[in-house]
Amino acid sequence: MNANYLQTPVTYLKGVGPHRAQLLESELGIGTYQDLLNLFPNRYIDKTQYYKINQLQRSGADVQIVGKIIHIKTVEQKKGKRLVATFIDDTGEMELVWFRGQKWIRENLKLNMPYVIFGRCNWYNGKFSMPHPELELLSEHEKGVKVSMQPIYPSTEKLGNSGITNRVVSKLLQQLFIESNGKFMETLSDPLLHELKLFSKSDALFNIHFPKDQASLAKAQFRLKFEELFYIQLQLLTKKMLRKQKIKGFNFDQVGELFNGFYKNHLPFTLTNAQKRVIKEIRADLGSNAQMNRLLQGDVGSGKTIVALMTMLLAIDNGFQACLMAPTEILANQHYNGIKELLDNMDVTCALLTGSTKKSDRNIIHEQLENGELQILIGTHALLEDKVQYKNLGLAIVDEQHRFGVAQRSKLWHKGRPPQTPPKGRVNEIHRKYQTVRPSAYSLLKQNQLERKKQTTEAERILWEQLKTKQLGVKFRRQHVIDEFIVDFVCLSKKIVIEVDGAYHNTPSQLEADEIRTKILKDLGYSVIRFKNQEVIGAIDSVLKKIQARLDSLPSGEVGGAFPPHILVMTATPIPRTLAMSLYGDLDISVIDELPPGRKAVKTVHRYDSNRLKVFRFIKDEIKKGRQIYVVYPLIQESEALDYKDLMDGYESIVREFPLPDYQISIVHGKMKPADKDYEMARFVKGETHIMVATTVIEVGVNVPNASVMIIESAERFGLSQLHQLRGRVGRGADQSYCILMTSHKLSSEAKTRLETMVRTNDGFEIAEVDLRLRGPGDLMGTQQSGILNLKIADIVKDNDILKTARWYALKILKEDPSLESQENLIIRHTYAQMVKHKRIWKYIS
Ligand code: ADP
Ligand code: MG
Repeated sequence: MNANYLQTPVTYLKGVGPHRAQLLESELGIGTYQDLLNLFPNRYIDKTQYYKINQLQRSGADVQIVGKIIHIKTVEQKKGKRLVATFIDDTGEMELVWFRGQKWIRENLKLNMPYVIFGRCNWYNGKFSMPHPELELLSEHEKGVKVSMQPIYPSTEKLGNSGITNRVVSKLLQQLFIESNGKFMETLSDPLLHELKLFSKSDALFNIHFPKDQASLAKAQFRLKFEELFYIQLQLLTKKMLRKQKIKGFNFDQVGELFNGFYKNHLPFTLTNAQKRVIKEIRADLGSNAQMNRLLQGDVGSGKTIVALMTMLLAIDNGFQACLMAPTEILANQHYNGIKELLDNMDVTCALLTGSTKKSDRNIIHEQLENGELQILIGTHALLEDKVQYKNLGLAIVDEQHRFGVAQRSKLWHKGRPPQTPPKGRVNEIHRKYQTVRPSAYSLLKQNQLERKKQTTEAERILWEQLKTKQLGVKFRRQHVIDEFIVDFVCLSKKIVIEVDGAYHNTPSQLEADEIRTKILKDLGYSVIRFKNQEVIGAIDSVLKKIQARLDSLPSGEVGGAFPPHILVMTATPIPRTLAMSLYGDLDISVIDELPPGRKAVKTVHRYDSNRLKVFRFIKDEIKKGRQIYVVYPLIQESEALDYKDLMDGYESIVREFPLPDYQISIVHGKMKPADKDYEMARFVKGETHIMVATTVIEVGVNVPNASVMIIESAERFGLSQLHQLRGRVGRGADQSYCILMTSHKLSSEAKTRLETMVRTNDGFEIAEVDLRLRGPGDLMGTQQSGILNLKIADIVKDNDILKTARWYALKILKEDPSLESQENLIIRHTYAQMVKHKRIWKYIS
């Protein structure tokens, strides 16, 4: 069959006119035969099974039962009345209920005759009941043809109202199978089909739409889910491989004095095995000539900071600068203080830059950053401002990466570049330098400029003929002015200058002038290639090859031979492995899955508001023991005003309960001035206040080891990952810590699950898995990243095992045959190319 057959517009299908086509497109995004084939049923109604009443489950599933109606009555209710029939089989009794069409039912129902009923079963008032069942006399039922499993397709109200019912959709699919003889092109290779014992594509498609029985359906689902996940993994892994080949990185091959010195003399504790392993993984990346793009996951308190610091020391050992960006000022401050302390007695310069850094300090930082005096810069978004320019940024670390957008991360990435156009003052400075150091060569250089304007040599003309065709894939300009120089040719996007030197470039002073010119251009961030006239005239091919080679050696999209910095993103929000594999399948992932020794697990309890007095008593006891307490209130944007009121009310009641002078209480919230916040925070950190009342601003990273109780008010309003983050604020010292989840009595079942999970476990990954199940992958990762989760048939959470299998095979195939050239992989390459061509796959990736 023709490969393009499936791209046929759906209007060509019998039964689809322009009106239906338009509806299918707008409501379900179905434009082609392929789209229709890939409209997979949401669920199936299984009419192959007959249930007994005592086998019914409270699952709300559709079931089919054989039995008799023995009694029927009308029940009056607030609005109207309902008809209730008692239905029995030899195992028990249940109710059938009608709210509409009661007259017809009453007149036609036959008592004490065997019926087959079908419908959704509810558990109501201690009994099973089935509203509006499908009814058929058993004798009729036995005569009829059996549709075994009936597919139920996704639909919309508009479709239903326009007569495109489930039956119609099913009919259209039948028509499609008739037209195509049910034969569809295979999309997986023979070895895969054999090894995994998969259905062929045609069998799978047939059985997903018209399953013979449960077993065939399961096989069809497996094959299609595998295929979907396989091609996504193939894409992610290909991307990762390409990045490793193309995006070159600084090679940190020195494990030098700072790193070793710190390890030997300054490490305040023994690293955990997990920390050691992660540092090893990072070191391998940094010495590989490729840019590192690594995600470091580790639960709160697992000790990521020290890993970050040691990675930064590696950068500095290799002559580079490093930066660490945190999402809030409090966190940046804390990182700065912590790292300063660790670096005590070491010869490393480190500064803090946040929104509240004074202008005068800021200027000093900018200057020291540019001249390379400053080695480590820690801060907030302020690090991303254009004014912040590094001499040579080799490593950028982002803490709590989920709080930053993609755009912000990419901005950091580009901080590795030299400034696009140096400020005017700096250009002059560069010139002045050479003017004073090499006056005669410099004046010759100036003189050359004048001549350049006048003449075009034969060699320049020949080279231009070639360059202007863009055969090298980039655009060159000729006789372009850079700063005060006219250069022969320049590619601005790659910052490459090509110079063709005429015959007069042979005297020592002229060579010196050329050298200065190259140096100045390099200072301006350009990479310079020089050719002699004769070279261009005699061997233009080899000249072009050399230019090509230089272009290739540049990291893609980067300029002037500068590499992007290595990137390490750290997060304490565990991303379930399942999800990480798909979302960050193109990143390398390290996990710190071990807490430093001696930590006591935080004890978590759930208390109702009515127990508040007991909780207060407990707080008093803890304060007596010298501990400090957090009380956290929710702050949700939509209900901000109310939430602030709750916070202030709560604060007042705590002040009343814990009066001065025995108790000191801090409060921190988003409406306070940064200076006031910092002041209050600092008092708590220093142990001057006993209780910190706050909104979630303290959620991430804050470290006060003496705080041992975390009270979360209206805990039912927090998400699981937030609760876990908050709990991570305690349990940092040697004492037993507690987390108390306060709620009202009214709890949704989801909220109950969240609270129970928190009480049951401290394991961030386990919590993340529950969160994923509760909220679904899209919500969990935020909309911008949820594209990948718009899967047609697979479910990232439920089909975890298939995902792993798919990834394993994708990896194996790419390892053996990276460009999919072998005969047996041809079909995979072809399918992948088709998907890319029809953009059926890119939308998965953010
Ligand atoms: P997080 O991963 O949450 O950023 P931190 O880096 O802040 O964790 O570490 C939490 C605490 O554990 C810090 O006080 C740190 O000094 C301490 N710590 C880290 N690693 C170890 C270790 N291997 N042994 C003992 N204490 C450690
Ligand atoms: Mg941290």
